[in-house]
Amino acid sequence: MPIYKAPVDDTLFLLNDVFHIERYSNLPGFAEASPDLIGAVLGEAAKFCEEVLTPLNRVGDKQGCKRHDDGRVTTPAGFKEAFGQLRDGGWIGISIPEEFGGQGLPSALTQIVNEYMCSANMAFAMYPGLTQGAIAALIVHAAPELKAKYLPKMVAGEWTGTMNLTEPHCGTDLGLLRTKAAKQADGSYRITGTKIFISAGEHDMADNIVHLVLARIEGAPAGTKGISLFVVPKFLVNDDGSLRAHNGVTCGSIEEKMGIHGNATCVMNYDGAQGWLIGEENRGLNAMFVMMNEARLGVGVQGLAQSEVAYQNAALYARERLQGRSLSGVKAPDKPADPIIVHPDVRRTLMTIRAFNEAARALVLWTALRGDVAHRSDDETERQSADDHMGLLTPVIKGVLTDTGFANTVMAQQLYGGHGYIAENGVEQFVRDARIAQIYEGANGIQALDLVGRKLGRDGGRAVMSFFNEVGAYLKDKSGDDRMKPFVAPMTVALGHLQQATMWFMQNAMAKPDNAGAGATDYMHLFGLVALGFMWCRIADAANEKLPSANGSAPRYNAKLVTARFFMERMLPETATRLARIQTGADTTMELPADAF
Ligand SMILES: Cc1cc2nc3c(=O)[nH]c(=O)nc-3n(C[C@H](O)[C@H](O)[C@H](O)COP(=O)(O)OP(=O)(O)OC[C@H]3O[C@@H](n4cnc5c(N)ncnc54)[C@H](O)[C@@H]3O)c2cc1C
Repeated sequence: MPIYKAPVDDTLFLLNDVFHIERYSNLPGFAEASPDLIGAVLGEAAKFCEEVLTPLNRVGDKQGCKRHDDGRVTTPAGFKEAFGQLRDGGWIGISIPEEFGGQGLPSALTQIVNEYMCSANMAFAMYPGLTQGAIAALIVHAAPELKAKYLPKMVAGEWTGTMNLTEPHCGTDLGLLRTKAAKQADGSYRITGTKIFISAGEHDMADNIVHLVLARIEGAPAGTKGISLFVVPKFLVNDDGSLRAHNGVTCGSIEEKMGIHGNATCVMNYDGAQGWLIGEENRGLNAMFVMMNEARLGVGVQGLAQSEVAYQNAALYARERLQGRSLSGVKAPDKPADPIIVHPDVRRTLMTIRAFNEAARALVLWTALRGDVAHRSDDETERQSADDHMGLLTPVIKGVLTDTGFANTVMAQQLYGGHGYIAENGVEQFVRDARIAQIYEGANGIQALDLVGRKLGRDGGRAVMSFFNEVGAYLKDKSGDDRMKPFVAPMTVALGHLQQATMWFMQNAMAKPDNAGAGATDYMHLFGLVALGFMWCRIADAANEKLPSANGSAPRYNAKLVTARFFMERMLPETATRLARIQTGADTTMELPADAF
């Protein structure tokens, strides 16, 4: 049975020593987040994830969800009780403003807890994760009476949320969507249509399910300009919050799928279901983007989380599995063979995953803290700069963390040899679960296009220039510190590659957009490498500061410095390959006619 231990110490090191969370104490909710409180929250989250959710991960995978003839869906044994514990612990609302029933703590804490939950049980974590996304969209765009009706129950975890975009003929291209909304005399709408692949669309863990649904109001323009967003509850809600009749929305079937079996992926049929407009008519995509951006960061965290749990298990296995002898001489003479951790290729695998995980966690936290600035600061300049950061880094976090996270689960599986292919050992579940994160919430190719096609040029390139300036200034600042030489020199080269790639797009993609399309995925990963490298610089710097007085913790900080060097030596050089690919442009890629494929 796979193990999981939440990386609380690593998280606290990032919060306290790398990002100095105390510097954010001017933001609402941060003063309350004392070191003691953060320690207690993370400790409790770790306990819940390790003791309750981890054992249910395999149960969920084996049992899956079951749809009954009457349309009800039951979740795997133990999920409902675990959700009850999650609700009683108030976990959904820890970062939601107090006026809506939350605790108002930094949203960085929610990202941390979500990482732990996704490592422990990704299929389970999607139920509260989607609820948090729906809450965010309602807070920003819903009318006060809708907020009052839905938010308190959702924040308390009594009701859950979903996002309904996809239709059979309409995935990436939302302009194609056909679900209709007919306006009623009382101001509500009747929603009719079919949505597919709706995560957590129907289940037995909450009293009500609040669907956020994209639909086209009768007579609205075709394409994305005619899409509106509606809140459509499973059970209609009285003014006092009590529930009345079942609305006209039912689960038609659930998908048999590769992974995340514990999460119900539903076909949802809307047959004149009563819904209420969120935000303005025909501005539904704008409103849904609040949820989509939240979800994209959340999905990036899923990639990291699967990579982390796969690493932990592979590392344990590599220390125990005895095969062969070390190239540099026997290491375990009392045993019939050495543990496979002695082999350099096994080490290379583990170091590659670890060097990603620790920097990816930092990248998520850095961005979550910037998210808190964007949403909570009273300084407009600070808010704008943090918002730029979020816009730029969201597709990078979604695309890079899930592509690499999946690749890492495969690498971890490889360390088990044939045993990794056998279900009983649990590691193949991580591979299957991690795979979806590359696909949903905008497939990763679309994330890359979002980065290159929309985010780079936005506001005259303000966000990307600010990122370059921040990283460049940091490297310059640290260039006189001998301890930082192994990090500053390679990062300066890598940043140069990213700047050259950006320049290349500016010169070659305006007139020929296929050049941007063909290079977008390489660019996203080049960006990711630089962002992760920057995180390693900051981690190494903090480790250097801690070491002189570290005493018993010195091995931990030394390990950080070794892992940082590994990243610089073995992983960051890939920026050169990515740049070279981008600079070849689209000609060869586009040369063959479509019927040659
Ligand atoms: C398990 C699961 C859970 C899901 N949960 C939800 C949910 O809760 N709510 C919801 O609304 N949806 C959900 N989805 C749907 C998911 O978000 C979509 O599958 C995804 O957005 C891609 O749409 P599609 O499958 O129609 O692929 P398509 O849009 O048909 O894309 C196919 C391929 O073509 C590429 N492509 C498409 N257009 C372009 C372009 N313009 N440029 C370059 N490449 C392009 C894509 O990157 C992709 O690789 C879920 C899907 C699954 C499998």
